[in-house]
Amino acid sequence: MTGFDGRLLTRGAPGYEEARLGAVWNERKPDRHPDAILLAAGDRDVQAGVRWAAARGLRVSVRSGGHSWIGNGVRDGGLLIDLSTLDEVVIDAPNRRATVRPAVQGTRFNALLAAEGLVFPSGHCPSVGVGGFLLGGGYGWNSRALGPACFSVEGVDAVLADGTLVHATDETHPDLMWAVRGSGPGFFAVVTRFHLRVHPAYEQILRSAYVFPYELRDEVLAWTYDTVPEISDSLEMSAKVAFTPGVEQPTTMITAAAFCTPGEGPEMLEPLEKAPFLRHALRRVERRPSSLDDLYALSDGLTPKGRRYAVDGVWTDAPVQRVLAAGRGVLDGLPNRESFLLWMLWGGQPTRENACWSTQGRLYFSPNAVWHDPADDLLNETWAHEALRDLDPVARGAQFADANPADRPDHGLDAEQAARLEGLRERYDPDRLFRAYLSPEESTTALAVRRRAGKPA
Ligand SMILES: Cc1cc2nc3c(=O)[nH]c(=O)nc-3n(C[C@H](O)[C@H](O)[C@H](O)COP(=O)(O)OP(=O)(O)OC[C@H]3O[C@@H](n4cnc5c(N)ncnc54)[C@H](O)[C@@H]3O)c2cc1C
Repeated sequence: MTGFDGRLLTRGAPGYEEARLGAVWNERKPDRHPDAILLAAGDRDVQAGVRWAAARGLRVSVRSGGHSWIGNGVRDGGLLIDLSTLDEVVIDAPNRRATVRPAVQGTRFNALLAAEGLVFPSGHCPSVGVGGFLLGGGYGWNSRALGPACFSVEGVDAVLADGTLVHATDETHPDLMWAVRGSGPGFFAVVTRFHLRVHPAYEQILRSAYVFPYELRDEVLAWTYDTVPEISDSLEMSAKVAFTPGVEQPTTMITAAAFCTPGEGPEMLEPLEKAPFLRHALRRVERRPSSLDDLYALSDGLTPKGRRYAVDGVWTDAPVQRVLAAGRGVLDGLPNRESFLLWMLWGGQPTRENACWSTQGRLYFSPNAVWHDPADDLLNETWAHEALRDLDPVARGAQFADANPADRPDHGLDAEQAARLEGLRERYDPDRLFRAYLSPEESTTALAVRRRAGKPA
């Protein structure tokens, strides 16, 4: 039909609907329809697609791994550039560098790196694409020690709004690189390759997990929150309030992964093993030898494909009793047995001059609603987004730049970084060719539709 190496699917053409639905991993698909979807075969297609859209007055959105919880790439009208077949990995082991294309998934990348004695802090779920993950900041396995994954981005190849392809580094394009590291869906170009620094593999990974009864919830959560400043950065600890098979009431689970290096070993887990409530554990696994594959599989089991998801979250540094008091409605209100509250103890990280990535804190408090039946959308979305508003007085902002902006607007940047990003957008994309954060007006969730109708949730 056109001069593309890949396929251009206009609305209504065979394959269009499959591509539209396939662009979103979440089973809750947006009711939005791009005018056309370009299944890009390479850089040349991305450049041609950007120019094709600009010449027709169409705006451009992008999809890499399709894991945006809200299906950010699928917009009404315009051109969706689908990068899902661009998944090449090139490793330069002696120099601890790798180049990855945007649809590369963490499991495959780490399997290839492992063969070279290397590792990368890719996302916890095995199938998250590096494209959206790296642009959004990227909290991966061992990011407490290795930093948000965007700090390991040294350069990108990117197609700009005029269709030119640039190789950008901190030396050649410092502003562009600053935006790459954390703007997420607010980025104003299409990345076709990420040039990454990769890291030495761990000596071993040890995993511990404990399940505690309902009555201990607040005590367990408070202890983890107050303890995280004292534990090693190489120990990734989180808690979940969730249902456990065979237990009637929601339980509280602590999981911890120790990423052991020559400098730090299994003793990292000792603070957890001395927790005052440990004898009450209903189930426990201690210092079990593990692997990234093992951790990916556990994460995948928590958020399997084929479910409907509404995910949101806030950062906080407030005293834990205030957090617990504010979070009571979310903590008490799990909408079903598959949903869970993630109490992720990142511990806080300094921001950097060369990254717009900014909003974060000691704790990420994140409701994950998981369900099957579309008739339950409103109930689950209300829990994930609306109930979370109770935490506003203790919150520092949102984490994932594409988790929620439609249903609880927040792009996950501090005010100063957000203002600078808009200034750069004006320079790099003055005609607003690229779509940025999804707005509440564009959201097609049951919650958004209800709000637009003026009804309370
Ligand atoms: C099950 C699951 C688990 C997750 N776990 C984690 C986790 O552990 N840590 C974490 O940090 N995040 C996690 N996330 C969030 C995830 O990192 C983001 O949703 C991320 O945007 C997904 O990237 P993607 O390429 O797969 O998504 P996509 O939906 O393809 O992309 C999301 C948006 O990012 C932008 N984008 C993507 N690629 C490009 C590109 N090449 N050029 C320009 N813009 C682009 C576009 O605006 C696009 O709409 C998880 C998400 C899911 C669904």
